Amino acid sequence: MNILIFGPNGSGKGTQGAIVQKKYGVPHIETGVIFRQNISRGTELGKKAKAFIDRGELVPDDITIPMILNRLKEDDCKKGWLLDGFPRNLAQAQELWKALEKAKMKLDYVIEIDLAREIAKKRIMGRRLCKTDNNHPNNIYIDAIKPAEKNGKMVCRVCACEELTARADDQDEAAIDKRHNIYYDAKTGTVAAVNFFKARTKVVTVDGSTGVKEVSEELMKKLT
Ligand code: AMP
Repeated sequence: MNILIFGPNGSGKGTQGAIVQKKYGVPHIETGVIFRQNISRGTELGKKAKAFIDRGELVPDDITIPMILNRLKEDDCKKGWLLDGFPRNLAQAQELWKALEKAKMKLDYVIEIDLAREIAKKRIMGRRLCKTDNNHPNNIYIDAIKPAEKNGKMVCRVCACEELTARADDQDEAAIDKRHNIYYDAKTGTVAAVNFFKARTKVVTVDGSTGVKEVSEELMKKLT
């Protein structure tokens, strides 16, 4: 089973990707994770990639494309893979498509989590972490998971813990915009990559504006 998953930052792609990975038992190949591992191990690849990642830019295609195409040739990928974070632009989509054709491999599913840009941004900026348990969902902009109120203070909606904090990088509006500029770019960015696949194969699109459970239910219904 060869699968691609697309979705903007804030769409819950990581969560849904983990569910899809479990369903099919294929390796979850996340470009960002590979880069971060290389950076922490101090490899040549990590050294080359670090400056781009720190600036919130894409690592150049001549580094990223061979890295991923080689990763797909490893033994654990024989039964398939779930690619997450690649392709991230049109050039990467074209190269992946060419490589798959050459290897006579097909894509079984291309998944797209559809979410409007303003909502994706609010999702990220409204996220609040509960000190007791980071998995308690709290978001000041999403009605279904709005923090509760106690004595005029905002508290965790699950455990009523009073320490709700925002992650610093979730509040970095410029960084969020930079990532979204790449994702929502329909000319050469990630949306262009999604459209490239839409013109060639079936793309399963799910509405990312509902909750985690609703999105995964819709996704599971559409995947066999
Ligand atoms: P992520 O964890 O997916 O947010 O990726 C972290 C960073 O790794 C991105 O901001 C990029 O700098 C880099 N990166 C991840 N995937 C790609 C890709 N397909 N092409 C180029 N750079 C990437």
